[in-house]
Amino acid sequence: MSDLINASLRELSTALAAKKVSAAELAALFLDRIDRLNPGLNAFIALDRDKTLAQAKAADAALAAGSGGPLTGIPLAHKDIFCTKGWRTSCGSRMLENFIAPYDACVVEKLNAAGMVTLGKLNMDEFAMGSSNETSYFGPVKNPWDPTRVPGGSSGGSAATIAARLAPAATGTDTGGSIRQPAALCGLTGLKPTYGVVSRYGMIAFASSLDQAGPMAKSAEDCALLLNTMAGFDTRDSTSLERAAEDYARDLEKPLQGLRIGLPTEFFGDGMDADVRAAVETALAEYRKLGATTVEVTLPNSGLSVPAYYVIAPAEASSNLSRFDGVRYGYRAPDYGDLNDMYSKSRAQGFGAEVKRRILIGTYVLSHGYYDAYYLKAQKIRRLIAADFQKAFESCDVIMGPTSPSVAFAFGTKSADPVQMYLSDIYTISTNLAGLPGMSLPCGFGANHMPVGLQIIGSWFGEAKMLQAAHQYQKATDWHTQMPGGMQ
Ligand code: GLN
Repeated sequence: MSDLINASLRELSTALAAKKVSAAELAALFLDRIDRLNPGLNAFIALDRDKTLAQAKAADAALAAGSGGPLTGIPLAHKDIFCTKGWRTSCGSRMLENFIAPYDACVVEKLNAAGMVTLGKLNMDEFAMGSSNETSYFGPVKNPWDPTRVPGGSSGGSAATIAARLAPAATGTDTGGSIRQPAALCGLTGLKPTYGVVSRYGMIAFASSLDQAGPMAKSAEDCALLLNTMAGFDTRDSTSLERAAEDYARDLEKPLQGLRIGLPTEFFGDGMDADVRAAVETALAEYRKLGATTVEVTLPNSGLSVPAYYVIAPAEASSNLSRFDGVRYGYRAPDYGDLNDMYSKSRAQGFGAEVKRRILIGTYVLSHGYYDAYYLKAQKIRRLIAADFQKAFESCDVIMGPTSPSVAFAFGTKSADPVQMYLSDIYTISTNLAGLPGMSLPCGFGANHMPVGLQIIGSWFGEAKMLQAAHQYQKATDWHTQMPGGMQ
């Protein structure tokens, strides 16, 4: 069975088609691992064996009837930010501790329709605000490579789950780096698509102009297969893009001869730990061996990305989270006086400290008298950041650099200092501000044998090219096949 827990999605698909294993057996195999290993990891925060097995049996029936597709019968798990019909959907918050979603998010709908089997819901930073999973109401997720360290965030539950082989794949969301940074810290592959490629319908909103869902898995090839199902126009999301469907796997097997890799000066300065730099440099040498060339590019405004993000994201969050008022759904304080008291007590008790900090900042930067000084200024910076990338892509096909400035850090080291925590996303945030696609893939190990992630940033709609670059690298290296010891 160990071959099945390490298998690629394509291999699982072949095994299912050849009747070497049934969808029900596969689901049971992963559920048993979850029962055994999740108590030490805290990655799954909702499980329902009966529901999972019923979905698996339906997948087996589809396979038997010959109506299955390439993903039918393959299990996966969803970040708890995606509304999942009949499942508790908490977004990592006390506010939604008892919320059972009455409908499926578009992403869940599409993956269900493809016959994938939901193993459960995954822990995350509260409302996706964080880089370490320490802001979850349900307690932090442990990094399977070293349980004294964070898995990254906010999709830390998704990353830990795949690293520990509790599921072959998971969904994630990325507002400022929440797919790529945990993928880097847990040694997997994760992809944030171009803004608008995947529908946000049913994905609990954090910062709507930045939020984007994407796949997390062991390899680029797996991510391509998942993205093929997740992407597509959806009338229920007004920012969803109406484009012809594409096969994101179409270029995977093309060699990298002539690929021009842009290396931003700003990504290779101080600020990156020496172990991360060494692994990234080695990966770039491998790319040159594979026929790619590297060219220096500059992103002069990238130093402003963290400050601009921490104006724009809280501004949007303060507006989005105003719906949690204790009236319609979600947490309501048990004791209160008048209506205003009910609002404020419900919000005071239902939200954690980081969420409150963002609501306060967001409300402040949008308030009369500060709007021009902060919010409008940040929007102008956002435009400059996008223009920097546009210029850089005139001389390269993809951009590469580190995903995270450090390997996974120990619990508690950054949680008391928000700015230190915010800097964890220094290399990922500008991508979201510009709406660009980005991915992270494992490229070696740093101090204490913790995984290092290589970031690839594509031009707008450059997913297929990014995936090609990642897949060709993964054919030549085996970092993505490594599994943490102790997770057998
Ligand atoms: N760490 C960043 C934040 O806290 C990004 C989070 C995300 O991408 N959801 O906002």
